Amino acid sequence: MRIGYGWDSHEFKSGVSLKIGGLDIPHPKGLGGHSDGDVLLHAVTDALLGAIAAPDIGTLFSPSDPRWKGADSAVFLDEALRRVKAAGFRVANIDSTLILAAPKIGPHAQALRKNVAALTGVAADCIGIKAKTPEGMGTDNAAIAHAVVLLEAATPRTRKPRSKKLSH
Ligand SMILES: [Zn+2]
Repeated sequence: MRIGYGWDSHEFKSGVSLKIGGLDIPHPKGLGGHSDGDVLLHAVTDALLGAIAAPDIGTLFSPSDPRWKGADSAVFLDEALRRVKAAGFRVANIDSTLILAAPKIGPHAQALRKNVAALTGVAADCIGIKAKTPEGMGTDNAAIAHAVVLLEAATPRTRKPRSKKLSH
């Protein structure tokens, strides 16, 4: 088994739509960034990449590369999932915490779980979406996401019998 951890943050910005977990969430401001600023998918992507010791999201999809300008973050997630599969693993579960002052995530949590499930091919009851407000952190104009993933071997290896010690 492998465990992976990812963290990301983006600043709220007027004039862009808010995208979290691949969903458009109604809000006066969106998240700035080179891509679509999907803070949750970026944290999950980095957790997947970290679990298999692959280069991180910023290395694979450089913010200075014009190809990723306004990119759908599902593209980054797909590449991480491809690498996880190639490494011989599958995703057992994903847990995440969003930290943002607004909008409230609670009313969208079920839709987010379903959407992240659809994007990752993991059952919705294996996707955790939690949200907190940034009490005392002074980060009201940002959205922060933490994510952990657990990977398990896609085909469980049969355990080799232990070689017997030679007796004298
Ligand atoms: Zn990001």
